[in-house]
Amino acid sequence: MTDATEADLTGGTPRPRPEGEVETIGGRKLKPATMMMGHGYDPMLSEGALKPPIFLTSTFVFPNAAAGKRHFEGVTGKRPGGAEGLVYSRFNGPNQEILEDRLAIWEEAEDALAFSSGMSAIATLFLSMVKPGDTIVHSGPLYAATETLIARILGRFGVNWLDFPAGATREEIDAVLTKAATGNVALIYLESPANPTNALVDVEAVAASRDAIFTGDTKPPIAIDNTFLGPLWAQPLRQGADIVVYSLTKYAGGHSDLVAGGVLGTKAHINTIRLMRNTIGTICDPNTAWMLLRSLETLELRMSRAGENAAKVCEFLAAHPKVEKVGYLGFLERGEDKRQADIYRRHCTGAGSTFSLYLKGGEKEAFAFLDALKIAKLAVSLGGTETLASHPAGMTHLSVAEDRKQALGITDNLVRISIGVEDADDLIADFENALRAV
Ligand SMILES: *Cc1c(COP(=O)(O)O)cnc(C)c1O
Repeated sequence: MTDATEADLTGGTPRPRPEGEVETIGGRKLKPATMMMGHGYDPMLSEGALKPPIFLTSTFVFPNAAAGKRHFEGVTGKRPGGAEGLVYSRFNGPNQEILEDRLAIWEEAEDALAFSSGMSAIATLFLSMVKPGDTIVHSGPLYAATETLIARILGRFGVNWLDFPAGATREEIDAVLTKAATGNVALIYLESPANPTNALVDVEAVAASRDAIFTGDTKPPIAIDNTFLGPLWAQPLRQGADIVVYSLTKYAGGHSDLVAGGVLGTKAHINTIRLMRNTIGTICDPNTAWMLLRSLETLELRMSRAGENAAKVCEFLAAHPKVEKVGYLGFLERGEDKRQADIYRRHCTGAGSTFSLYLKGGEKEAFAFLDALKIAKLAVSLGGTETLASHPAGMTHLSVAEDRKQALGITDNLVRISIGVEDADDLIADFENALRAV
C-alpha cells in the first residue's frame, strides 16, 4: 500500500521541531523518562507556558492564500511531502503531535499516531492495509473486539483470516504462513501476552518465518498489540515487528480516566495509516492528548511500582493453600514450559502487573473472593493506578463457547487481577482477608 500517490496523501508531519531541544548530553542519549517532560514542545511558542496549553480549535489559520494553497497541494498529493503546517483538527493538532512525538520515544520508533481508542487504532490499521480477498494471519486468542473486527466485520468485506496459537513454535508458524501464502497476506497481527492465557508470542520466530516464506512486495508487515507489557517491559520492534499497537487506555493512560489508542512504527507504515486516519477521523481529541502527556511523565514510575507490587502479591498468592495456581509471567522461569521461559528471556524485561489467579473451587469460591475485596475494585480493564479484579468466565468472556473457554483456560475458578501502585502490604492484607471468605 505504499503507492506514491497514497504515500503523499498523508497530511505530513508538519509542526516544526522546537529549537534547541536537548536529546543528548556529553554524548549520552537521554532516557525516555527524562524526555517525557519536554520533548516536542517549545514554551516560547505558547506565551512561555511551562506546560502545553490545550488547543481547542477545529481549524488553523493560514498566514496567506499562497500558503493555504501549498497546504492543500501537500494534503492532496499534488506536491510530494504532505502538508507543511496544521490545517484541520481531523488531521492533527499540537497536543496530539506532541503526544505522538513522545510515544515514539519509548520504543525508538520512527513515528507514531494517536487515536480515539485502542480499537479505533486497530480498525484504522486494518482498513489501511487490507482489501477484499486478502488474508490476515494472526496469533490467537486476541482481544475479543479485535477478533470480532477481523472475523465478523472485515469478513463481511471479503477479508479472510488464519490463526496460530500464541505459544506456537517456528514449525507451527511456518505451516500456517505457508498455507496463507497461497493467497495475498496483507498483515500478520500478533498480541502478546495473550489474554487470559498469558501465552507469549515468539516475535523473532514469526519474523524469521515471514522472511523465509515471503519475498519482496508480497512480504506482509508484522503488527503487534503491546498493551499488556509495553512500553516498559516489552519492545517488539526490537524483535522484528514493524508496527506496534496500543490501547493507551491501559498502562500508558494509567489512571482509568480516559480511552485512547496509539500506533508506532516506520515512517512508511505510519504514513499509510495516517492517510486512513485523516480520512475517517479516528484521531484522539486535544484534551485526551493532554491527559496522556501528563500520564507519560509518570509512566516509568507507575509501571515500575505496579510491577514490583505484582511480584510481591504473586509470591503471597502462590503460597496460599486456597490458591490452585497463579498464571504470572514472573513465574515462567520456575515452570515446566521451557519454551515460554525462553521467549520471556528474549522478549521481556519485566513480568507486568496483570495475571491470572486460579482459586481452588469454582464460581462460588471466585465470587466469594471478589465480593470480599476491600481495596481492589471489581471492574474490567487493567493498567490503572488502582488494583482491579474481574471474573472472565462470567464477564469479559461470558459469550465465548464452552469448549473454547476450556481450551483457553477460562474456567469458573479464574480471577483476573491488574495490580496498581498502592502499598504492596496493604494489597496482600486485602487478598489475605478476601481468601478467608472463600
Ligand atoms: C483494552 C484493550 C484493547 C482495546 O482498547 P480500547 O482502548 O478499549 O479501545 C485492545 N487490546 C488489548 C490487549 C486491550 O487490553
